[in-house]
Amino acid sequence: MTRYIAAYDTESPACLAAVRKIVRMHEKHAMPATFFIVAQLLDENEAEYVALLKDNPLFEIASHSYTHMVLRDTPEFGKAGPTEQFPREIVDSKRRIEDVFEREAVGFRAPVSFVDGLKSAPDALRLVAQAGYRYVSSQAWGPSWSLPALLVRPFTYAEEGYPELWEFPPCGWHENLLKGNNDCGPVRVGLFPPAMPETIPDRYIETPEEEFAYNNKPFIDKAIADGMPLVSLIWHPWSLHRFDADMRMLDMTFKYVRDRRLASGTFAELLDDMKHAN
Ligand SMILES: [Zn+2]
Repeated sequence: MTRYIAAYDTESPACLAAVRKIVRMHEKHAMPATFFIVAQLLDENEAEYVALLKDNPLFEIASHSYTHMVLRDTPEFGKAGPTEQFPREIVDSKRRIEDVFEREAVGFRAPVSFVDGLKSAPDALRLVAQAGYRYVSSQAWGPSWSLPALLVRPFTYAEEGYPELWEFPPCGWHENLLKGNNDCGPVRVGLFPPAMPETIPDRYIETPEEEFAYNNKPFIDKAIADGMPLVSLIWHPWSLHRFDADMRMLDMTFKYVRDRRLASGTFAELLDDMKHAN
C-alpha cells in the first residue's frame, strides 16, 4: 500500500497567509497533512497557528527546528550552525510545539535536508533520538545532492545505534527551486544521466498545471508502480502561495490522489504502517 502524505515545511513569516488557504483546501478534500513548523514562528504568531491547526484531526504537527539553522554542511545550501545551538533547534523546538499544540510532536524535518539523512550528522542524530522523536524526515536530495529527490524506502538508523528511529524520505523537487522562488538564480542540481527525465523542465515552471505535470504526477505514479510505502512531495507554504495563491495545484493533486484511490495520512500514521509491516 502506498500512502500519500501532504507535508509542509512551515518556515517563514510569509507562511502564515499561505497556511490559511492550505487549511481550507485540506478541509475541502478531507485530506490529512503533516505541518513541520519552525518553532520561532510560534513565538511571533502563536494565536494564529493555534486557531488554524490545533485540534484539527486532519493535521499532525511536527518540528522543522527552532530557527531553521542548518545541522550539517551542505555544498550549496548552507554551512552547519554552531553545535551549541543544536539542543535549541532539536530539543527546545519539540517542547515549544508540544506546549502550544498540547500533543506529542513525534517527527523532525531537518532544515534544507541532506543527501543521506542524518547518517553523517551524529551530534544531530543523538539529540533527535534523546529528544524522543520517533521519526526524522531529513533525506530530501537525489544522488550527489541532485534534484529531484528520488523515491527512497523508509529506513531506520539501526546502523548508527538507533533501531527505533525511522527516516521517512520525501521525494521530488524542493518546489521552490523548480519555480526559481529562492531568487538565487540558476543552481547546480542536475544529474546526468537524469534518473527521471520526465521531471526535468528546460526552464522554471510557470503554472500549477506544470508543477503537477513535471513533479507531482510522475512521482505519485512511480510510487504506486514501485509499491513504495509513501509518496510525499517537498512543499513550502510561502513558495506555494507566491506561485499559486489560490492553491490550484493542491486542488488538482488531492483530486488525483483520490482518483488513484491512494491511502492518505500523516507521517505519524506512517509510523504505524511500519510497525505493522515488521
Ligand atoms: Zn525549511
